[in-house]
Amino acid sequence: MGHEYCGIVEEVGSAVKSIKPGQFVVGSFATSDNTCPHCQYGYPSACIHREFMLRAQAPLLRVPQADGTLVPTRGGIPSKDLVPSLLAASDVLGTGWFAADAANVKPGGTVAVVGDGAVGLLGVLSAKQMGAGRIIAMSRHETRQKLAREFGATDIVTERGDEGIARIKDMTKGIGADSVLECVGTQESMMQAIHSTRPGGYVSYVGVPHGVALDGQKLFFTHVHLHGGPAPVRRFLPKLIDLILDGTIDPGRVFDLTLPLSRVAEGYRAMDERHAIKTLLQV
Ligand SMILES: [Zn+2]
Repeated sequence: MGHEYCGIVEEVGSAVKSIKPGQFVVGSFATSDNTCPHCQYGYPSACIHREFMLRAQAPLLRVPQADGTLVPTRGGIPSKDLVPSLLAASDVLGTGWFAADAANVKPGGTVAVVGDGAVGLLGVLSAKQMGAGRIIAMSRHETRQKLAREFGATDIVTERGDEGIARIKDMTKGIGADSVLECVGTQESMMQAIHSTRPGGYVSYVGVPHGVALDGQKLFFTHVHLHGGPAPVRRFLPKLIDLILDGTIDPGRVFDLTLPLSRVAEGYRAMDERHAIKTLLQV
């Protein structure tokens, strides 16, 4: 959809105070003033001045609420090899991080991740950074399983649906995972997440739901916490940028196809047909 972006500021509007031309900046897919109550509570993606960024597949982009939305990198323009990771911070990493945060990932905890797209894989990376003891990635694709392991997954489960739930229960002595990250947004993935979680555990959901309906009575008896929505990426950006600039994390590895902007359609096709996890477009 083109709502991920980073780059060098060319020009600022007359009301912009802190962002300056020449800075390298990363922003979220949701703009935010960073001052309203929702922003103050840590939900900039629910900002009262929110606009969803689209069409960032372009040589130039206008970003509203620049002072609140954009985060400049410290130490000037980052080296070129860090740009894919900084671009990942703009959405897929920020969303994966929120998934882990919202699922209450704690040091030593058992985490399951439903979905092996860029967000799911970076949910694995995020859970690892938060100190999870065991990270179970649910994936059927060999290349994605490999990246999940490199990002910190300790186990891979290839089964889905009820079989997937049974596998997670087996692996946790019948208890279920402490934290489950739902990074797909289908009925099957949501049920898989809720029923793989132990009573009292946490499910985060960051995939836009498509046709998901929850049965109130079934939900009642699961005893799980549910927390999701459009990720408040801006809350995490300063920390994520630091981790990238320090070389602690390398989330840009989810980009396994780089194309010039003029071949954008090809990039989307590759992701749609699952030949690529994520396409990076360059101007
Ligand atoms: Zn706000």
